[in-house]
Amino acid sequence: MKTLKDRIQKDGRCFPGGILKVDNFINHQMDPLLMMQMAEELVRRFEGTTISKILTVEASGIAPAIMVGYLLNVPVVFAKKSQPSTMENMLVSEVFSFTKNRTYTICVSRDFLQPEDKVLFIDDFLANGHAGKGVIDLVNQAGAELVGMGFLIEKAFQRGGELLREAGMHVESLAIIESLDNCEIKLR
Ligand code: 5GP
Repeated sequence: MKTLKDRIQKDGRCFPGGILKVDNFINHQMDPLLMMQMAEELVRRFEGTTISKILTVEASGIAPAIMVGYLLNVPVVFAKKSQPSTMENMLVSEVFSFTKNRTYTICVSRDFLQPEDKVLFIDDFLANGHAGKGVIDLVNQAGAELVGMGFLIEKAFQRGGELLREAGMHVESLAIIESLDNCEIKLR
């Protein structure tokens, strides 16, 4: 998606270890206009797919997810990263965080992920696919169907996209980063 790629080149910043910082338009300060354009493009990419629910992981996936949910008029559920003491009937999985270098738990109430759901997962970044794998696990536990995964930015030099596509998943990414070597942003 050209608008997003241009914005990444203009405002994105590289950090050592292959991390792209986009916190002036996606991850901290957010550009709602661009966010809506990205949501529209994601909806277009999954046209023809039956979707009954959007699933994301807090916190940075929520903004794009809610805009996609708004456009499709379906509920949006975010997996929580801590287990609320009041949550009953939980589905739980483990995710390794690449940026934080630690494992955390994600959980969703079974009330909001039902066997009849056709789930579209939305997130900001696809790196090694750990969050994606955790979400696949949650959806499987619920007996629901994961019909696709949509990301704003995919880092192709990490292997998440390859692994998920090889597993037969319909994966869409709006901007694909080939490399961040020498702190230079190379887009596909
Ligand atoms: P994965 O689970 O695919 O390995 O990594 C994706 C998750 O890690 C995303 O939800 C995102 O929050 C975070 N992440 C991975 N790489 C980056 C990055 O380069 N920049 C930012 N801002 N977040 C990242």
